[in-house]
Amino acid sequence: MTNRAVIAIDGPAGTGKSSVSRRVATALGANYIDTGAMYRVATLRVLRAGVALDDAEAIDKATEGLTISVTNSPVKQIVLMDGEDVSGEIRGDDVTRSVSAVSAVPAVRTRLVQAQRDLAQSGLSVLEGRDIGTVVFPDADLKVFLTASPEARAQRRHDQNTAAGRDSDYATVLEDVIRRDHLDSTRSTSPLRPADDAVQVDTTDLGIEEVIAKLVELARRRIHGESSSEVKA
Ligand code: C5P
Repeated sequence: MTNRAVIAIDGPAGTGKSSVSRRVATALGANYIDTGAMYRVATLRVLRAGVALDDAEAIDKATEGLTISVTNSPVKQIVLMDGEDVSGEIRGDDVTRSVSAVSAVPAVRTRLVQAQRDLAQSGLSVLEGRDIGTVVFPDADLKVFLTASPEARAQRRHDQNTAAGRDSDYATVLEDVIRRDHLDSTRSTSPLRPADDAVQVDTTDLGIEEVIAKLVELARRRIHGESSSEVKA
């Protein structure tokens, strides 16, 4: 018997996945694991090494021995790459533009998937990503796949950028959302797709509170067999 329980939250960029995952984890008292942040750190290492993004072997070498640490409080995430605080840099344009290429390299995925399994080996964990329900934890207790129209997703990213004081242009963000969706869903290793048994939630016209309440209720029912009357997000 293991005391491990996993909630997998997958979907493309801009579906509200990060906010939803963090809040669901807090409501359930679970660990929150942001696997996208891990791929972003690997990408920063590759960019710093000056390696070509189509050279899989060099990307593999550049990311060998990489130490990633991600700590989360309800309001702040701190990400360390080999001990250096890169929390801001991994959200910048350079990393965002290059992360799909780096995360398509099978050797990078093998290492990070192992790290993700290790992080969630005991207790209750909420993992957000692209392949959690299909590859990392195909036996997850609850699998969720969030979707939303590309326009709604681009608008959310644009608003986040602006709120964080980053330069942002809606048309460019929309182009990037569409390009990344395409790269992430057509790559040969672990493409972005819903697991057959995932609960799909379209967040285009749903408020974040509604999405959170729905997922917390589902999670409690699946994991503890609790009734919905206990749910208040
Ligand atoms: O979620 P976020 O936008 O931070 O993810 C950045 C990128 O990392 C994605 O566009 C995808 O290329 C990659 N990723 C992945 N598998 C995951 C999580 C993220 O390939 N489980």
